[in-house]
Amino acid sequence: MRVTLLGTGDTAGTPRPGCDCDTCLAARERGVERTRSSVHVVNESTGDVLLLDASPDFRQQFLREGVSLPDAAVITHIHFDHLDGLGNVYRLLDHLPVYAADETDPKTGESVAETVRRKYDYLDTVSVQPRTPHESFRVCGFDVTLVPVDHPPLLTYGLVVEEPETGATLALSGDTSYRVPESSRDALRDADLLLADGIVPASLCDYHPLGGRDEDADGVPRTFGTKHMTKEGAVALADDLNAEELRVVHVAHRYPPEEAFAEPLAVDGETFSL
Ligand SMILES: [Zn+2]
Ligand SMILES: [Zn+2]
Ligand SMILES: [Zn+2]
Repeated sequence: MRVTLLGTGDTAGTPRPGCDCDTCLAARERGVERTRSSVHVVNESTGDVLLLDASPDFRQQFLREGVSLPDAAVITHIHFDHLDGLGNVYRLLDHLPVYAADETDPKTGESVAETVRRKYDYLDTVSVQPRTPHESFRVCGFDVTLVPVDHPPLLTYGLVVEEPETGATLALSGDTSYRVPESSRDALRDADLLLADGIVPASLCDYHPLGGRDEDADGVPRTFGTKHMTKEGAVALADDLNAEELRVVHVAHRYPPEEAFAEPLAVDGETFSL
């Protein structure tokens, strides 16, 4: 399995348009970027390409990395930064099966799959494939499982992508607080690579109107507000899940520049062979 991190930023990305903070300036100087969430996964046995989330930066990401277009996609949740790139497939692909959860979200009255179908009903290219969380399904030669996480107020999912021949496993936390349910933790455990949401360092919780929560034994918040993990939360999750390697994704420009490009924070274009 070959994994390319197409987009490792939060919804505004880094550099953030109109921002001249030290971190955005440092990103421009270094020529690094964190565009909106997407992961490109190649099954090296079959050559199939699975896309995890459809970033609004889809076109730029595929041009930049020179990677093959997807044979299928999985959508974790309906926020703009994970979904709104799907329109890019118009005139680019003849057919794209898009897998998403089938549970009705009380907040929207629709499942993620139904929202994708409604928003892209004008595109014949997009064929929506509803799937039940915790039930693995085969796509692009991978066994893929959607697992519920915690990203209020919307139903949101993490992902496990396993290559059956080799046992290589990629786990994605999805957008989530530290309150990942135990049954989902069990599914995400022992991955070769974990990509975990770590939007800001815990110190930034002082500036969130709701502060932080899910503090560790030293009082360090592992959740920023209610929707995302802190970097410390992502590290603690990787530890709990016994991940072989962690890259922190969904990273905001609000990390101080000396921390923003240091381990274990990912930047766009990183590749992994699992
Ligand atoms: Zn900035
Ligand atoms: Zn989100
Ligand atoms: Zn997001």
